[in-house]
Amino acid sequence: MGVKVGVLALQGDVAEHIAAFREALADRPGSLVAPVRKAAGLADLDALAIPGGESTTISRLIGKNGMYEPLAGFGGGVFATCAGMVLAADRVDDPRVRTLNLIPMHVARNAFGRQVDSREVYLDVAGLVDPFRAVFIRAPVATEVGPGTEVLARIPEGVVAVRSARHMAFAFHPELGGDLRLHRMFLEGLGV
Ligand code: GLN
Repeated sequence: MGVKVGVLALQGDVAEHIAAFREALADRPGSLVAPVRKAAGLADLDALAIPGGESTTISRLIGKNGMYEPLAGFGGGVFATCAGMVLAADRVDDPRVRTLNLIPMHVARNAFGRQVDSREVYLDVAGLVDPFRAVFIRAPVATEVGPGTEVLARIPEGVVAVRSARHMAFAFHPELGGDLRLHRMFLEGLGV
């Protein structure tokens, strides 16, 4: 059976998420990966990717497009990266971001300090045999995780990969770099 994945397409690296999910689903006939700009686009989706970008901007556009309640109540699995991880949290250290409360965790934006724009780390991720080449770009970390949130990876600055029910969030960008193991882990967890 095919899998329907939406990518929240208000701002950020939307095209990269679409390309990565299309490739990860190439062996699942009948699958569909499409950008979502309106609440109506969330209907019937098995999963939604919330991309990296600028969480304050995405949050503002979510409000402007009347998507806050539909996103906060989304019934499928969420695959959130970087700015998406900030939005998926239930608390963030920046009042300009209205979090969607999808994953019980507290997040700090730009947690690597202003001078560190980006960094690459070979990261051990629970469930993967070999390390994952993780690209961090002005990344957040989770400073606290709540009940039911499983930590999949951490670095000295904090938690950088989590799973909660069918949702996964990453402080780095699995949609960049061509390694689709985390996409596959997420798709398996959807149970569709
Ligand atoms: N610093 C950005 C934010 O907090 C996230 C950066 C990214 O998504 N690459 O919104």
